[in-house]
Amino acid sequence: MGDTIFGKIVRREIPADIVYENDDVLAFKDLNPQAPVHVLFVPKRALATLNEATLADAELLGKLMLAAADYAKAQGFGKDGYRVVVNCNEHGGQTVFHLHLHLLAGRRMHWPPG
Ligand code: ADP
Repeated sequence: MGDTIFGKIVRREIPADIVYENDDVLAFKDLNPQAPVHVLFVPKRALATLNEATLADAELLGKLMLAAADYAKAQGFGKDGYRVVVNCNEHGGQTVFHLHLHLLAGRRMHWPPG
């Protein structure tokens, strides 16, 4: 896959407001937040989209979700709740082709999403 802006953030080539990191995952604030809390969780080992994931990536995908839950609980909004979203390709609204999980919190979410 080609490099993306998120690859550059992972390698610290461009700045981001990093809020969480472990061996496999980096998380930073979304530049265009859609909720009071809007953080992007990205695997350091990039996949372009969820379509490229295989069973070999199962642990990494699980770690991505657990990182979001860890962060939510540590920030104190675990109990009120939050939403995690992965957009895939055009109909999913994906614009950056380095798989990422959106964590949205700080307000009541609507359903169905747009
Ligand atoms: P969408 O743009 O429709 O939300 P994605 O699911 O691909 O599609 O999400 C990409 C997200 O990355 C967007 O929410 C966008 O605001 C955010 N973004 C783009 N560039 C940066 C950046 N340099 N730092 C932080 N967030 C960014």
